Amino acid sequence: MADPAADSPELAADLAADLAANDTIFGRILRGEIPCDPVHADGRCLAFRDVAPQAPVHILVIPRRRLVNLAEAQPEDAELLGHLLLVAAQVARGQGLTAFRTVINSGADAGQTVFHLHVHVIGGRPLAWPPG
Ligand code: AMP
Repeated sequence: MADPAADSPELAADLAADLAANDTIFGRILRGEIPCDPVHADGRCLAFRDVAPQAPVHILVIPRRRLVNLAEAQPEDAELLGHLLLVAAQVARGQGLTAFRTVINSGADAGQTVFHLHVHVIGGRPLAWPPG
């Protein structure tokens, strides 16, 4: 998908400022300060393998622009959120998964440990329900 910031110097500058201020570990990954194992990259998001996989396939899809979590998302984030889900499905297909789980933990009590919104894509083994 095209980078929506590519045609607009203002949007590109805004995204760069957002990235510079991102003090989470995913901000460091987006800035290239720490490595990741990427499986997808486009102008809006990056997908990479989770460092502590909970299943044979465990990938995180993150927006380049920081959203703290789903609870803090706004109506203007709708297109970006939709894009993240479509990329999650594309990544799952690319890994050969026909069944997979997507998880977005929002808030510490729900298990969120990195406060930069991310979609977990988990699969490659039978997954129990309900989750813990
Ligand atoms: P959550 O608990 O939903 O916030 O998920 C955060 C996820 O980020 C966990 O599954 C961690 O294993 C993963 N994670 C943390 N640091 C890294 C890293 N440097 N590279 C890849 N995944 C990471």
